[in-house]
Amino acid sequence: MIARQKTRQILLGNEKTGVIRIGGDAPVSVQSMTAGYTYDIDHCVAEINELASAGADIVRVAVPERKDTKALTEILNQTNVPIVADVHFHYQRALEAIEAGVHKIRLNPGNINDRDQVNAVIDACRERGLPIRVGVNEGSIIERKDKQKRKEELGRLFSASKHGHLIAIMIAKIEEYIDIFEARDFHDICISAKSIDPTLVIDVYTEISKRFDYPLHLGVTHAGPKETGTIRSVVALGTLLANGIGDTIRISYASRAVHEVEDGLEMLYCLGLRPRVGAELIACPTCGRIQVDLFTLVQEVRKKLAHEIEVPIKVAVMGCVVNGPGEAEGADIAVFAGDRRGIIYVQGERVANVPEDEILERLLAECQIFQDRVRSGDATLGQKNVEIIPPDPIGELGSGRAKITSGLVEQITVGRS
Ligand code: SF4
Repeated sequence: MIARQKTRQILLGNEKTGVIRIGGDAPVSVQSMTAGYTYDIDHCVAEINELASAGADIVRVAVPERKDTKALTEILNQTNVPIVADVHFHYQRALEAIEAGVHKIRLNPGNINDRDQVNAVIDACRERGLPIRVGVNEGSIIERKDKQKRKEELGRLFSASKHGHLIAIMIAKIEEYIDIFEARDFHDICISAKSIDPTLVIDVYTEISKRFDYPLHLGVTHAGPKETGTIRSVVALGTLLANGIGDTIRISYASRAVHEVEDGLEMLYCLGLRPRVGAELIACPTCGRIQVDLFTLVQEVRKKLAHEIEVPIKVAVMGCVVNGPGEAEGADIAVFAGDRRGIIYVQGERVANVPEDEILERLLAECQIFQDRVRSGDATLGQKNVEIIPPDPIGELGSGRAKITSGLVEQITVGRS
């Protein structure tokens, strides 16, 4: 179990959407953002509903223009997940979004004209009981108006101490913004401080978590295409979460937002921060022993499981019987391929030996049957009934079993703080 740092709690949503808690003892929530125009109501609603179906707890929409905030009432009518209005530059958009009934505002006080305008948003949120995310991005903290100041700041950024200098500016900005909210006696906030650099994200959030007890919204901004953006995000957010830091997350990259939700949830499952919903798929990477088209099979199994299985069954798809049985031993359902065939096991019991073109169908049928058995109480997840015996005996050098049974292997407790 990861010991999470204690933060205050904020609430958003209502009876219709369900109330999402962020911070305190609440589970880490997953959020994402629509990519299309908010004023295109049908498209925006479809995006929000797709994200909610994929497991998003919260969805953010951009409201750069009046036509976007005008669309919000209808969007809120047609969706059932808390909506956050993302506001930059125009404080009126925040007031209009609040009036339309959104559940939270995202504000960067650094790009709102003056303090009175920020105060107007704070007061409107207080009146409606709405929280505000106070965010700084690395890209928006450098002086824009005063050219000399900008030159000096940029000069420092390209010096050897860029990393530390950026952290210092981001922390100073966050402190400055929080002062505005606290001076108004408004504490219903969460904080974000995003950068494109994962190491900076790790360091700046670590520092913020030492200074404030407001809940933290974690994210890497402009992380790039999905292939590399996922890695950037998971390196930064995974490190912070493993250290107990972070209350809500957004993975972001240049791809369909629904993948951000899937990847965010998978990260939380892997860290044990959320109970898994749906099947967990493990698969071998294949090697020179492979005798079936495993990559295609794995992708087909993945898609089918995502749609058809809701119980957290562990499913293993293995290329052969050499290491497959050992690696899949903890799986509820496993297939070991070989010689253009697949041998299927359910909790260690061999139930089928089918040709390659029947593996997918039979494996899914066994998953469905097993899911029904779990639901009816006839089977228990993670319980192995029969040992899977590999074809070649593991010699005394290969197996740790003798050592475990003789009590020579001591349990190791790993402590995290
Ligand atoms: S399970 Fe078999 S095919 Fe897959 S990587 Fe291991 S040895 Fe290779």
